[in-house]
Amino acid sequence: MPPQENLSAPWSVAEAANYYGFKRWGGGHFSVDEDGYVLVHPEADQRAIRLHDIVEEAKGKGLSLPLTIRIQDLLRTRVVQLNRIFDQAIIDEGYQGRYRGVFPIKVNQLREVVEEIQDAGKSYNYGLECGSKPELMIALAMHKNMQSLIICNGYKDDEFIRLALNGRRIGKEIYLVIEQLSEVQRIIHISKQVGVTPLIGFRIKLSTAGEGKWASSAGEDAKFGLTSPEIIEAIRRLKRAGLTDSVRLVHFHIGSQVPNIQTIKKAAVEASRFFCELHKLGLPMQIIDVGGGLGIDYDGSRSNYESSMNYTMREYARDVVYHIKSICEAADVPVPDIVTESGRAIVAPHSILITEVCDTISKTSVGPKKPTKKRNPLLRDLDAILANEHGSSSLERYHDAQQKKEEAHNLFNLGYLKLTERAEADAIYWQICKQLAALTKGDSYIPEDLESLPQMMAEQYVCNFSVFQSLIDHWACDQLFPIAPLQRLNESPDVDATLVDITCDSEGKVSKFTDVEDVRSTLRLHAIKPKEPYYLGIFLVGAYQDIMGDLHNLFGRVNEVHVFLEDDEDDGFYIEDSIHGFTTNDVLGFTQYDGHMMTRMLKKQIDAATKADLIKPREGTRMLDEYVEILRGSTYLKTT
Ligand SMILES: *Cc1c(COP(=O)(O)O)cnc(C)c1O
Repeated sequence: MPPQENLSAPWSVAEAANYYGFKRWGGGHFSVDEDGYVLVHPEADQRAIRLHDIVEEAKGKGLSLPLTIRIQDLLRTRVVQLNRIFDQAIIDEGYQGRYRGVFPIKVNQLREVVEEIQDAGKSYNYGLECGSKPELMIALAMHKNMQSLIICNGYKDDEFIRLALNGRRIGKEIYLVIEQLSEVQRIIHISKQVGVTPLIGFRIKLSTAGEGKWASSAGEDAKFGLTSPEIIEAIRRLKRAGLTDSVRLVHFHIGSQVPNIQTIKKAAVEASRFFCELHKLGLPMQIIDVGGGLGIDYDGSRSNYESSMNYTMREYARDVVYHIKSICEAADVPVPDIVTESGRAIVAPHSILITEVCDTISKTSVGPKKPTKKRNPLLRDLDAILANEHGSSSLERYHDAQQKKEEAHNLFNLGYLKLTERAEADAIYWQICKQLAALTKGDSYIPEDLESLPQMMAEQYVCNFSVFQSLIDHWACDQLFPIAPLQRLNESPDVDATLVDITCDSEGKVSKFTDVEDVRSTLRLHAIKPKEPYYLGIFLVGAYQDIMGDLHNLFGRVNEVHVFLEDDEDDGFYIEDSIHGFTTNDVLGFTQYDGHMMTRMLKKQIDAATKADLIKPREGTRMLDEYVEILRGSTYLKTT
């Protein structure tokens, strides 16, 4: 464990940058300026924007927090990076095939995200991948570059297949990847019907199992892909239909966020073997599609921990190209074009969720009173533990304090202790715990019983957002995201805190934070100053979180701004687009309520109350106006 920072020591922005890990997980896109503000570097060069400025400008436009900030140039940078790195790996390995990447729409379906990706990838013939009918609808409409691919994964019905084949008719290179044997017959039937020769891929059920949180996408128990006997059967059926010339592609996907490069190498080798064998069976094989899985180093530890990855994008590209090449060479089979379906690695970094701390909860917010003479002996005992009159060890004091607190609660329940006395006992107990947490902080050995003290005594910062709407993977699968204040990084963060959201759900919290080693149970933040907003950024949230979030407690989609670099502007950016999140009326609509109807229902009751002289007519009107205004407003807390 690194030595604990001395809280009173002078603090520098360099220390802040190190503590919050911008360099480790930021990929050159985040830093801290000398005034203590977080900067984003959209193109990973010296051009930078203060995130705080973006928030202020958005608020000026009436976009309150929580707020999603999309850095469009950063998104473009990632698309270019992935393509360039693969192109370079192909040159370095003297590889004869091409790289033909596709973006899996599932990872972020929002139109402006898909548009930006398409635009940035135009000169690289970067295509799209879809896994459902609605996603194919997007792909068909948004795909304009006929040199780029559309890959269709996922379960397909007749409509899906017909839609894809119609795309073929207007000149698109669309692959139907067969996930299940039953799809073979359907593809044969419908392609005959519409008179279009399909392009077919096989998704292979590799025996190489994935690793990490999303490992169940591959391996023998996966719900996707064909086993080797099924592949042989599929070929037999396609042969009978005269469609073997359609089979050109081998696909696999070993799950998202693969932390270990060894898994990727193994899968690439196994899939290449399938590719070569299919070639030898006389199929005109052309493409290996290695799916997704390229990770994001959320904690910056470069390890094979599940929130990290022990490889770089460059290493990934090199390994994929190298292993496909060596297997094909050994089998004397011409190398294929390579497709990746990297989603997370493309979109995660561009989006930052901004929330504001709106309150704090502390167990010691009300401290003990000055001891009076006529004091319950139990309280006197607790006083003695707090003052450490007996010179006991921390562990002993903790055990003694716990025992006294329990005694106090028992006496209270039996009616022998007054509420004021119980309040005193609790206040002294928490004071003792706070002292012990501070005392043991930084000790190389902390007894087990005291280990949980820092988290227990951490302050809870109440943040204006919903974990369920905006950070669903943190709740659903314990995924970690880097979190840091946007300002005051030139001041020492002296409060150990955890975050809680504003849902009425105790699971709506963040109490695990990224760290180079292990996981932090608290995050050091600054004491909140009255009347000064304290913004927190939650970083790398551009993948999956946008769509998977839900309306728990009826908190809706958050406001959103799309930011571009602009040299002519003072602060180096402009907001191209702002999108308002859901209003209260919107979310009520999703649950079968109707705002107008509700207003009418309330009006009736107000009218009745006015008639009964419970309220004045003017008060009634005001009440109704306020109701309507809230319907039109955001679902989140209104802060100033
Ligand atoms: C989800 C998915 C992807 C995207 O995976 P990432 O790890 O986000 O890159 C790619 N291909 C398929 C088939 C998927 O299901």
